[in-house]
Amino acid sequence: MTATASDAPVVAHFRFFELEVLRTRRLGRSFLRVTFGGESLAGFRSGGFDQSLSLFLPAADQEHTVLPSTDEDTWFAAWRGMSDEERPVMRSYTVREQRRTPEGADEVDIDFVLHGDTSPASRWAGRAVTGRRILAIGPAVAENKSVRFQPSADTDAIWMYADETALPAAAAILDRLPAETRVRAWFEVPHEEDRLDLRAPADADITWIVRESHGRERTEQVLSALRSADPGAAEAPYVWLAGEAGTIRAVRRHFVQERSVDRRAVRFTGYWRLGASEEQLLAEAYAGKAPSEDPTSEL
Ligand SMILES: Cc1cc2nc3c(=O)[nH]c(=O)nc-3n(C[C@H](O)[C@H](O)[C@H](O)COP(=O)(O)OP(=O)(O)OC[C@H]3O[C@@H](n4cnc5c(N)ncnc54)[C@H](O)[C@@H]3O)c2cc1C
Repeated sequence: MTATASDAPVVAHFRFFELEVLRTRRLGRSFLRVTFGGESLAGFRSGGFDQSLSLFLPAADQEHTVLPSTDEDTWFAAWRGMSDEERPVMRSYTVREQRRTPEGADEVDIDFVLHGDTSPASRWAGRAVTGRRILAIGPAVAENKSVRFQPSADTDAIWMYADETALPAAAAILDRLPAETRVRAWFEVPHEEDRLDLRAPADADITWIVRESHGRERTEQVLSALRSADPGAAEAPYVWLAGEAGTIRAVRRHFVQERSVDRRAVRFTGYWRLGASEEQLLAEAYAGKAPSEDPTSEL
């Protein structure tokens, strides 16, 4: 009998995991690393690079995350159907590192930017203590579409821009790149004390941009740093951009219009937007109004 496509086993790329806080560590003025463990992590398969996942954080007065269903067909309706007071908050984060300890335990690090006590994820991270349990939809196979960093085989240089929310992703990308990769990177952080020590290919040239303004003028500071830099000659650069949506839009335009980079070689993602919570961004995405990550988009 000949096998057909419909006989192939269906591999679910993502599923729910229960993450338990093992410990926290301050990395810089704005960054807190939360290390998670838990038995379900035995099935967690980060693809590395900028692998993202969705966290479900407990409502304000609850210790652990509770969802009526984690079944792939029913969880969404069940979650949406919860009352506003009880519904866990869904937020996107990056797997900074997944590892197995010498004792055989699985651990995952997530680096949270602490940006105040009024935003649910930032507040949750700032108060995280050992033993707290949250739920996440994460990768069950390493090749999955939440790894956005996908340079083509002929890439001869990597150019990157990240703000603090995308620094964990950028750091995880740098961790994985072969030693001889040519990298030019610009990392924007809120404070001098947020310049982290990063492992990177030997020739990586990193410029830190310490933010002088927290309003929309920040984009001008980034553009001026980019315009005054020479990223070096490259035939086929791959450009990876992630951070605040308005800045990303301007930075993408800079690379495509001012540096003539092929728009298909630019991978850009708005990780957050000034003045909008992730719920608002999701609502816009459902309504088809969100900016597209499609490399051919006219942004
Ligand atoms: C694929 C992906 C990966 C991400 N990875 C990470 C990561 O590893 N670490 C990380 O810290 N973030 C990461 N983010 C960004 C994070 O999801 C957002 O910052 C998110 O809005 C934080 O949720 P919140 O509940 O703290 O704030 P929200 O309730 O979503 O927002 C409340 C208010 O705070 C503002 N705001 C949101 N984030 C910031 C910020 N960093 N600084 C200042 N103001 C802010 C919003 O504009 C809004 O006005 C990622 C986002 C995506 C899409």
